[in-house]
Amino acid sequence: MDEFIAGLPKIELHRHLEGSIRPETVFALAREHSIDVGADSVEGLAESYVFGDFPSFVDLFIRTTKVLRRSGDLELIITEMAREMAAENTRYAEVFFSPVWHQMNGMTERSIAAGLNAGRAVAAGFGVELAWIVDNSRHLDVSSGFDAVDFVTGPNAPEGMVAVGLGGPEVGFPPEPWKPVFDKARAAGLEAIPHAGETVGAESVRGAVTALGAKRIGHGVRCLEDPEVVSMLVDSGIPIDVSLTSNRLLGVVESDERHPLKELIAAGLQVTLNTDDPGLFRTTLHKELALATSVHGITREGLADHMRIAVRHACLSPERQRTLLAEIDSYMSV
Ligand SMILES: [Zn+2]
Repeated sequence: MDEFIAGLPKIELHRHLEGSIRPETVFALAREHSIDVGADSVEGLAESYVFGDFPSFVDLFIRTTKVLRRSGDLELIITEMAREMAAENTRYAEVFFSPVWHQMNGMTERSIAAGLNAGRAVAAGFGVELAWIVDNSRHLDVSSGFDAVDFVTGPNAPEGMVAVGLGGPEVGFPPEPWKPVFDKARAAGLEAIPHAGETVGAESVRGAVTALGAKRIGHGVRCLEDPEVVSMLVDSGIPIDVSLTSNRLLGVVESDERHPLKELIAAGLQVTLNTDDPGLFRTTLHKELALATSVHGITREGLADHMRIAVRHACLSPERQRTLLAEIDSYMSV
């Protein structure tokens, strides 16, 4: 199975650039920029990645973004991410990035875009196509969302922009107030890919669909708490981007065994498999697929189907989708 997973052409739709940075790189950049990350060794830093409640995770995420100060830093972390993706045979990925934190650290729109463009070009050289989702933090003022949309649809827009996201703590921060930001983004041609149904139940998923016009839902596993919301997703063909290790580490589920992956699939939902924040969670897409097989009994054909679902629901042209589907089909026919 391991060999099968290694060779399977992969598509990943839910992964955060800033959550992909390896602890070694966080530590090296912190030294270079004389930034205190609360640890005096790589091991100490990695040990500080303790996941309690969701707000403490958000704090950790923001802490690691503090080491990113120049376009070259973004290029470096994208290069490292893409190298890992290439080694795993990931062919295409939609990656969230969070400009608001980089701007708070003094980066300009131009330097952020330069870093993303340079890194994306390096990734293409590795045979990995990257597309960007600009992420927003729901606990910040909605004006930060308008700023982000203006950035990625304006003269300094990074290349490869496909969507707008909404992350951060769900508790106390429902999706509805973000409707004007998402309306503006969708009017400018971006898709809506918000997180929902992770730390709050099905009502958050309902809001993400009805108020924000979600093309896909990040996580969404708690849609199971309301059969009406499940039906809404199934009937409209809106997939959920599931991350098994993330859900366990952040307490969305009690253990790998208790994850409702099979229940979600049995309910008729379109499910994709993803890493979310592999640098923080110490996972890889390979490990996530292995987990789906070993713990949940997903077969080889099942894994290929999850990849096909990801292709069909990616922000890709029909031609590009056909090419990726043909790659998967060809792998499965050998
Ligand atoms: Zn996420």
